[in-house]
Amino acid sequence: MPLGGIGEIGMNLALYGYGPAGNREWIAVDCGVSFAGPDFPGVDLIMPDTTFLESERHSLKGLIITHAHEDHYGAVLDLWPRLKVPVYATPFTAALLQAKREGEPGAAKVPVTIFNAGDRFDLGPFSIEAINVTHSIPEPVALAIRTPLGTVLHTGDWKIDETPALGDPTDEKRLREIGDEGVLALVCDSTNAMREGDSPSERDVNASLKEIIEQAEGRVAVTTFSSNVGRIRSVAEAAEAAGRQVLLMGRSMKRVADVSEELGYLRGLAPFVSEQDFGYLPKDKAVIVLTGSQGEPRAALARLSRDDHPTVALSQGDTVIFSSRSIPGNEKAIGDIKNGLIERGVIVIEDHDKLVHVSGHPRRNELRRMYDWIRPRIAVPAHGEPAHLRAHADLARELGVDQVVPLRNGKMVRLAPGEPTIVDEVPVGRFYKDGFLIGSAEEMGINERRRLSLAGHVAVMVEMDSKLELVVDPEVVAMGLPKRDEEGEGIVEALIDAAAGAVESIPRGRRKDLDVVREAVRRAVRGEANDAWGKKPAVTVFVTKR
Ligand SMILES: [Zn+2]
Ligand SMILES: [Zn+2]
Repeated sequence: MPLGGIGEIGMNLALYGYGPAGNREWIAVDCGVSFAGPDFPGVDLIMPDTTFLESERHSLKGLIITHAHEDHYGAVLDLWPRLKVPVYATPFTAALLQAKREGEPGAAKVPVTIFNAGDRFDLGPFSIEAINVTHSIPEPVALAIRTPLGTVLHTGDWKIDETPALGDPTDEKRLREIGDEGVLALVCDSTNAMREGDSPSERDVNASLKEIIEQAEGRVAVTTFSSNVGRIRSVAEAAEAAGRQVLLMGRSMKRVADVSEELGYLRGLAPFVSEQDFGYLPKDKAVIVLTGSQGEPRAALARLSRDDHPTVALSQGDTVIFSSRSIPGNEKAIGDIKNGLIERGVIVIEDHDKLVHVSGHPRRNELRRMYDWIRPRIAVPAHGEPAHLRAHADLARELGVDQVVPLRNGKMVRLAPGEPTIVDEVPVGRFYKDGFLIGSAEEMGINERRRLSLAGHVAVMVEMDSKLELVVDPEVVAMGLPKRDEEGEGIVEALIDAAAGAVESIPRGRRKDLDVVREAVRRAVRGEANDAWGKKPAVTVFVTKR
């Protein structure tokens, strides 16, 4: 049963259960976040609602993290205190989680048991085997989850790349052997199920980056996800070949570099230069690797695009390479940054200009090969929006898979015994992280806040004397409303008149009920705003009697 990540790309959280209802043991795979975007003003992160999981906590044996992308591990620190479950991760994921925890004072101390690709461990009735795959981050794994009723292969995020920048290629030999043993169900990445062919290799990206950096005349800045250590290596190697030195910019970039250094992933590279020394480098001797590929306004790239950095600047003739894709929803912010750079004479190169990025997810030929290796009885398309899931399901049917299960968040499918059937459904929702707090949309006031962002707020103070007459004109404070109407009349003045008129229109005898006054004033003020402006703000009315 997925609680997140199916029907969307983001906040993955998959549950596997064994045993009858009431006596069922669980494991969880991944615990990720989604990013909020402009629909959720003020919200930092979105994560799966764990209410169901909390109710099953006593029978939850472990949480296994497939890799350290935010959509797979980004909610661990925030949600772990609700679950208090043993966590299992590869060394890179564990180290990055630890580094992140150190950057967040007060974050939970999460106990992590480390495993490596090739390892096996048991959690209750589940026997887990981690299998090496290639993706766009160090140490991603697929999981073979064995139970007395059959094996599920949960791929996590993966692709096939015979020449990755880091780590070994996807372990075809082991996956074939597991396929030979017999696999009940394949729960597989659908992200690129609509793209024909095979993904290009990271080696081709490396060659292309080399060429661009060699030919560039000014500084070159490359923006990518900080967790893409292979890409950082590719850029550093290309820089070295062109006789340039590398500066890393951005907090998360430095955090990942520290962890990677410790684990040996940057071995053999020239040391990075410091921001202080960077100023002394000639333009054609400098490469910057920096955060901000998604248009984040506080990230290093956004600051350079606004020329708002004390020691580092980009100018006419420099090049910025977007070695990344745009996460849906970020296009506008990214476009603004590109335009800002172009306006300042910077050359911008994106992945449709040159091969400066490849996705870490399998295209259709790679999916075909996975199905050929695993030969599952049941296919469960995962990690995708509805269109991706549908394309994947159609492909699985084409490849002759017996049963294709169109699963969605909150639906529990019984894979065995018998035919796969949806047997239960639990409410699924989202938690919102906002400032220091986490809660449902209701608890966090998200819907109200969205309304306020669209139509503002009006506070009205009505004061009556002992005879229930107005002492003075009502007081009105309007936030986020236009100042004047079409005729140039002040809107606040009109609202004051409307509030006073509403009080006076209530027969004196009925004004004793202050709730009646409050509601009449609220309606009148909303109505007046609508007449003047065409929109209804939120209105709060205070009524007092001397
Ligand atoms: Zn990933
Ligand atoms: Zn993912």
